[in-house]
Amino acid sequence: MVKIQNYINGKLIAPTDGQYMDNLNPATGEIYSQVPKSHASDVEDAVAAAQAAFPAWSALTNEERSNYLMRISKLIGENLEELALAESIDNGKPITLARTVDIPRSQSNFEFFAKFIKDWGKDEFEDMGKGMNTVHYSPLGVVGTISPWNLPLYLFTWKIAPALAAGNCVVAKPSEITPMTAFLLSRACIRAGLPEGVLNIVHGLGPKAGQAIIEHPRVKAISFTGGTSTGRQIAATAAPMFKKLSLELGGKNPVIIFDDCDFDDMMSTTLRSSFSNNGQICLCGSRIYVHRPIYEKFRDELVKRTQFIKVGDPLAEVTDLGAVVSENHLKKIQSYINLAEVEGGTVLCGGEQVSLKGDLSGGFFMRPAVIEGLSISCRTNQEEIFGPVVTITPFDSEEEALFLANETPYGLAATIWTKNINRAHRMAEHIQAGIVWINCWLLRDLRTPFGGIKQSGVGREGGWEAFRFFTEPKNVCVKYA
Ligand code: NAD
Repeated sequence: MVKIQNYINGKLIAPTDGQYMDNLNPATGEIYSQVPKSHASDVEDAVAAAQAAFPAWSALTNEERSNYLMRISKLIGENLEELALAESIDNGKPITLARTVDIPRSQSNFEFFAKFIKDWGKDEFEDMGKGMNTVHYSPLGVVGTISPWNLPLYLFTWKIAPALAAGNCVVAKPSEITPMTAFLLSRACIRAGLPEGVLNIVHGLGPKAGQAIIEHPRVKAISFTGGTSTGRQIAATAAPMFKKLSLELGGKNPVIIFDDCDFDDMMSTTLRSSFSNNGQICLCGSRIYVHRPIYEKFRDELVKRTQFIKVGDPLAEVTDLGAVVSENHLKKIQSYINLAEVEGGTVLCGGEQVSLKGDLSGGFFMRPAVIEGLSISCRTNQEEIFGPVVTITPFDSEEEALFLANETPYGLAATIWTKNINRAHRMAEHIQAGIVWINCWLLRDLRTPFGGIKQSGVGREGGWEAFRFFTEPKNVCVKYA
């Protein structure tokens, strides 16, 4: 059985008190590896290593740091198959998804920021005749990153790559539920010759290892992706310490479908935006609002296609949906299916647990669900489920669609389907979300700001936003003689 190790000061080491916890394969329900149950002492060692590495790492040129990142990116590409297999076993997602989305994107994260940093410099503002202002951007020192289980390596590297590129040293904690690809990444960093202490990976539970990172006085900034309630707790600790905080939190994303959309394109994309990765993507659309003239046609087609989705072995090439990430998560999702019925909804299809045969008989599988007949104020439409569950509701006017879309505490992403470009822009302007897709979903350009409003988060990732977060600007003003 693989024993995952922490990566501290360039070495793979056991947690200081030797404690480990079990890591389960959600497709079988079996324990298949052991994860360090790290404590504050491990975080202390990681921060000390990062602090010691910082002067030399930050003194490198952008090009030199870029070269290290490119080497890591290349190694991810060379080990794509091994990483995809590990991600699939750890998370329960289809290997085809890990192979085509998670791991290629992790590789791109390093490559993108390696290239981007070469254009990052200083800003200059000349006040004609009076003086010249130069804004220098300096790395912060030691920064902490904490990431979730849904896109394990993808989101882990999305934070680490810009932090390192900007000259910081990092203490990173992956989710304890999906630690394997972060462990494989630490091996890649060793092979890439990344200097000791520049990146440190501490495995463990959120309230122990995670909290120790948040609380550590030498950790200058925290980049966190996870649930809204965890984000609230993190902010309560970090804000009084005046740490920089980037919080990417939960969502309850609306999809608004007008009767003039390209129906076929909308249908196939909506199936993806509803159920990809078992709906366990923060950007999945979970509340679908459909213009009344096409409501019934849409409903019947969505139900028909949802029933065709293949739930099965994540390692089989034909599988559409694998296992959800854990037994607890499966129970949580199913509690919302029951709640939806109590709240007066009708489950049109899915929602039941699926029992597979053989090795997979202990796995956490369920059929994707479509629910109709719920009001906007009910809990099913207000709370994040984060599973393969969508609600569908008809609307009559733009105003009504906007009201329904905005009437939750969240504001991460929204999708609009219409061929009327004026209407699309009108809707986009008034929708309360950090990201709006028109006639598409998950079309990502890594230069653009990524993040949510309201209870979906604070701050933005991606492009310059990431570098601004991981640096401190200093304005130097020289008066002309
Ligand atoms: P979570 O909040 O339970 O855990 C996320 C990470 O925080 C894990 O590494 C966990 O160990 C750690 N953690 C937990 N308690 C902590 C504490 N007190 N101090 C420090 N660290 C702590 O979230 P999850 O269940 O792993 O992920 C699912 C959530 O993530 C969903 O709500 C989803 O919407 C959200 N998410 C958001 C985005 C986004 O970009 N907005 C992307 C992916 C996932």
